[in-house]
Amino acid sequence: MSDMNVENVVIVGSGPAGYTAGIYSSRALLKPLMFEGDQPGGQLMTTTDVENYPGFAEGILGPEMMEVFKKQAERFGTRMIPKTVTKVDFSKRPFKVMAGDEVYLANTVIISTGATAKYLGIPSEKKYMGKGVSACATCDGAFFRNVEVAVVGGGDTAMEEALFLTRFATKVYVIHRRDEFRASKIMADKVLSHPKISVIWNSEVVEVQGEKLVKSLKVRNIVENSTTDLKVDGLFVAIGHKPNTDIFAGQLELNNVGYIITKPGTTYTSVDGVFACGDVQDPTYRQAVTAAGTGCMAAIDAERWLEKQHLKR
Ligand code: NDP
Repeated sequence: MSDMNVENVVIVGSGPAGYTAGIYSSRALLKPLMFEGDQPGGQLMTTTDVENYPGFAEGILGPEMMEVFKKQAERFGTRMIPKTVTKVDFSKRPFKVMAGDEVYLANTVIISTGATAKYLGIPSEKKYMGKGVSACATCDGAFFRNVEVAVVGGGDTAMEEALFLTRFATKVYVIHRRDEFRASKIMADKVLSHPKISVIWNSEVVEVQGEKLVKSLKVRNIVENSTTDLKVDGLFVAIGHKPNTDIFAGQLELNNVGYIITKPGTTYTSVDGVFACGDVQDPTYRQAVTAAGTGCMAAIDAERWLEKQHLKR
């Protein structure tokens, strides 16, 4: 172990946050090592047009944007490993980061593993993924022009998705498992008063039905225990996101739903020398530009921390 190389910075995860941390820490000559994961690029890889990232006046495709981010990080010397980190040990320094049997040592770790959209977990939902089932109205809404669609969920995301979908669909059903929304009042009121939206309360989707594409949903009313068929061409699942923190449980302080807790206004986690950025520590904004912003913060926090510890190599 003593003759093993100790990295200045190991970055775990490669969306906008991770790549930006790579750009900043490589420009600071820290020679960062980045684990890109099995599917480099993160959630933007499943997006089409990104029109709200400053600097791309005409918009850019999500995967193309991540390619540009990656190139920029590589240009300054970020080393990429296309593997997923399977285990970490933050109990003592240098920290251990493991990918299968391989062990890497690091003086600082920047975590940018992101979050994953939650799904209902019924087999037919999986079968129709990309054939009418989506977890992102912003990405796929435009494919549902002049048809009827449904959104599952009662939080702000579901409200936002339902309202967005009214631009394309002739009718939007919001299916919620309770008789009141969790969403903020202002968003809920917009949904409740929208002429194109109908809410189906106390109900859950038990099956997605169709042929090649989605044709209808089997919807169960939980209170009456009755089931009806709802004819729709699309199902948008908007029941929240799960931060990708399974490997950090017991190593870092997480909140009650698994997001990494950072010290307000910084990317410091509960372990000195471990920093977190992007969606893995942000249940609120979840935007590419905010993720990139915190990626920059993490690189600067890590660099200053290394300087202070006289560990910069
Ligand atoms: P939330 O956790 O707030 O809401 C998830 C919703 O999905 C809840 O209504 C929940 O039902 C429902 N749900 C969860 N699991 C299931 C399931 N298995 N089957 C059916 N329904 C299910 O997640 P959001 O993504 O909506 O929001 C996350 C955070 O982001 C919140 O803090 C939100 O305020 C914020 N946000 C803010 C926005 C804005 O201000 N513009 C936009 C989007 C998000 P139940 O209520 O019964 O638990």
